[in-house]
Amino acid sequence: MPELPEVEFAAQRLRHAAAGRVIARLQPLHPSQGKHLPDAAQQAAEGRTIDRVERRAKIQLLHLDNGAILEVHFRMTGDWTFTRSGDAPPRHERVRLETTCGVRVSLVDGRALSIVRLHAPGAFVPPAIGPEPLTDAFTVDGFRAALARRRGPIKPALLDQKLVAGVGNIYASEALWEARIHPGSATNTLSRERVSRLRDAVRHVLDTAPSGRYYGRDEVPEHDLWRVYGRDGAPCRRCAAPLKRLAQAGRSTFYCPRCQRR
Ligand SMILES: [Zn+2]
Repeated sequence: MPELPEVEFAAQRLRHAAAGRVIARLQPLHPSQGKHLPDAAQQAAEGRTIDRVERRAKIQLLHLDNGAILEVHFRMTGDWTFTRSGDAPPRHERVRLETTCGVRVSLVDGRALSIVRLHAPGAFVPPAIGPEPLTDAFTVDGFRAALARRRGPIKPALLDQKLVAGVGNIYASEALWEARIHPGSATNTLSRERVSRLRDAVRHVLDTAPSGRYYGRDEVPEHDLWRVYGRDGAPCRRCAAPLKRLAQAGRSTFYCPRCQRR
């Protein structure tokens, strides 16, 4: 599943390719997309300029010049591919957006679960999501107050977008290892010092992710990029104890039983 750094990277590429351009055509190419993008939505988007591309958590928002918004969710396997109109279409193309200057933006998605929707001017209601982790809005005090209001273990809490935006399953495990906090620790009992360490760890793993994931992908096996994710049974990089896996709220969590404390 694309995590926040991948969606940010995708949004940057989209911004570079399409911001300031005029939409010539917007076409769903798969039945799963047709229901989100009916004919009226396709026609309403045509002729509009893409003023800017915003990312909020893992949602991409294309702001059109009349105030309408195209909302994009990659879900499990979505991504952008950029070609020129008239080139051979990419595999698994689900939605096609062509600009008047001949740029073809394709939403490619092997599993066809992505969603693209058009909201009429003023109709978009922003989802209730917490602060962006890489901005100053993600403060220790705010994070601590939000954690104090919750019950249950910390790892599933980190996946809740209302707490902090866009932390997915991989980075939640990674951040807890970095902060030396056991994934089963109760959210409302974490000391200020541990919350502060966790906040820094979330930022650190998200911030350092792109270099590992984009530039090392071909050379480094993916499991070697991670601190704990997918490495159960392998030695902890910090203390050499064998890492463990546990299931929490239906998702896999990876952690070190020795150096991550409750
Ligand atoms: Zn360890």
